[in-house]
Amino acid sequence: MKQKETLLNILLNGDRIELSDTLIDDMGDNHVSTSVDTPMRTDAFNKTDDEKVNEIEKHFAAIMETLGLDLTDDSLRGTPRRVAKMYVKEIFNGLNPANMPNMAMFENKYKYNEMLVEKNISFYSNCEHHFVPIIGKAHVAYISNGYVVGLSKLNRLVQYFAKRPQVQERLTMQIGKELQKVLSTDDVAIVIDAKHLCVASRGVEDDTSSTITAFYGGKFREEKIKNEFLKYLELKTEF
Ligand SMILES: [Zn+2]
Repeated sequence: MKQKETLLNILLNGDRIELSDTLIDDMGDNHVSTSVDTPMRTDAFNKTDDEKVNEIEKHFAAIMETLGLDLTDDSLRGTPRRVAKMYVKEIFNGLNPANMPNMAMFENKYKYNEMLVEKNISFYSNCEHHFVPIIGKAHVAYISNGYVVGLSKLNRLVQYFAKRPQVQERLTMQIGKELQKVLSTDDVAIVIDAKHLCVASRGVEDDTSSTITAFYGGKFREEKIKNEFLKYLELKTEF
């Protein structure tokens, strides 16, 4: 019997295309995303965080019940609320632009016009196709255009975009584009190396692979500058 396929309309690079269920499953397993912006509904923030926690608590309880779990058990009783709070207030709180870190800028008084690299920024994200963790390191670089940003802000920016259901390509581009905007320069580079638990703990169950994505803007598209950046990433320093 042929499986009934529903068609879903999505916008891809401005064109409206139709996707079948089968294609949507393939997109999930192949980790294809549809846009640089996180696909959000226009009414995404009509509900307060507390209202969202209350609703997700009920929905998650329903999932657990459907799986046959006994929610009267002391160990499971609090799980739906814990998961709901964790979704809204922790691991997905980067969906809300109100939680964007304040990227205070400083004048580059010492005229440091060389490349600045902050490497090995740890982050935890979640795959938007399976809702299981992506664990990775981000390496961020820019060349000052007269302004500099506090180093910890780079960590916070990475973590803000990581705290969304994500695909690694989009995470990389969102960090890169936001940093270009904040620093008023195209000269920004991002490399992300991450492990996807949807690849490691399920599906093909490959525990050793990692995925590398990169964003090169402005001068970082020049071979010499790009290579300088990549050389810094190879530096092994013991602290
Ligand atoms: Zn996945």
